Amino acid sequence: MSAGDRPGLLPVEEALAKLMSLAESAPITEVERVALADADGRVLAAPLIAGLDLPPWANSAMDGYALCLAEWRGEPMAVSQRIQAGSAPKPLQPGSCARIFTGAPLPAGADTVEMQENVEVDGVGRVRFREPLKLGQNVRPQGQETRVGDHVLPAGTRLGPIELGLAASLGMAELQVRRRPRVAVVSTGDELVEPGLPLGPGQIYNSNRRLLITWLQRLGCAVVDGGILADDLAQTRAALSALSDVDLILSTGGVSVGEADFLGVALREEGELTLWKLAIKPGKPLTFGQFRGVPVLGLPGNPASTLVTFGLLARPYLLRRLGVQRVEPLGFAMPAGFTWSKPGKRREYLRARLEGGRVVPYPNQSSGVLRSAAWAEGIAEVLEGSTLVEGDSLRFIPLSEILG
Ligand code: AMP
Ligand code: MG
Repeated sequence: MSAGDRPGLLPVEEALAKLMSLAESAPITEVERVALADADGRVLAAPLIAGLDLPPWANSAMDGYALCLAEWRGEPMAVSQRIQAGSAPKPLQPGSCARIFTGAPLPAGADTVEMQENVEVDGVGRVRFREPLKLGQNVRPQGQETRVGDHVLPAGTRLGPIELGLAASLGMAELQVRRRPRVAVVSTGDELVEPGLPLGPGQIYNSNRRLLITWLQRLGCAVVDGGILADDLAQTRAALSALSDVDLILSTGGVSVGEADFLGVALREEGELTLWKLAIKPGKPLTFGQFRGVPVLGLPGNPASTLVTFGLLARPYLLRRLGVQRVEPLGFAMPAGFTWSKPGKRREYLRARLEGGRVVPYPNQSSGVLRSAAWAEGIAEVLEGSTLVEGDSLRFIPLSEILG
């Protein structure tokens, strides 16, 4: 028996904390340089440091006229030059103003911009400013957003459209990222058949494999398809042995205490197995261990349990191995649109939607029903030992928080 094997139920926070420390003891540290086009979903290996000021020079926030406010006596001003975005202005002629457009550099000597809606141009092309002017108005100063040398993004940031846009704004064409984790997905069970093949008696289609492979790819993992493990010890052992070069073996099913749960047996014999009984529903049995030194995370086989345990535990674990600090999904307090009268021993994660600003669970919360999650927009958390009446608040985690 290893430390995690214990009779009581393990609170999800404790399981997560253990997984975080396991992840931190096995970081994936290799770094590669990738083009921005290939960096979506990857994790920054080094801070992103600004190599220039943003904006690189003071520029106009409006289409209008640039002037030196101290030179303005309330009289109309001549227009001495026209500055478009992308052009290089001459220094401002004293006593004059410059026609200027949004994003165009301010000429040396100018410090203020008035928008074109607030001026009148007279018959000889001079500009009368109708409104009081404030020093610096409508000017975006050099370095207002970022200064050379600023740490714009810390190492461990997951890159998405915004971060990549930011890197592009700083002129970076490539970024240093952690290499992709190699994750093997294995499904266990004699009853499983891949879609496209006919179903024999007693068989069901393998849903977890596609669910996990697609999800892992979105997470930036390189997925190794470990196929289906038959409920047979020799085959299980052989299949696991072939996965010696991955960072994680992620399995579903076959880890409870059933007689056909050979994954557990293989791990006990040739590695290590910690069987956790999590205080969550769905998703009670979860295992962590290793097979010949390769970490193994065993998720429960029912698809809704796979979803919940991957989203709440395996996903944070993988991200932490890549050095991501903020790995937990954001949840929001929302009012219940239902009543919960029987307090449970385990924390329930209901596949639920928001309707009229209230949390409404899918009617069938059985852990085998993946359709509940397709209908749902999020996972609503009913705490162990608690009851709810309509309007009470509970935590709602949007699926979008965990699916990428
Ligand atoms: P197990 O943990 O192997 O006893 O599996 C628990 C339940 O999940 C059983 O009803 C299995 O048939 C089902 N199950 C296991 N793996 C999968 C899978 N990959 N796709 C769909 N259902 C599965
Ligand atoms: Mg099974």
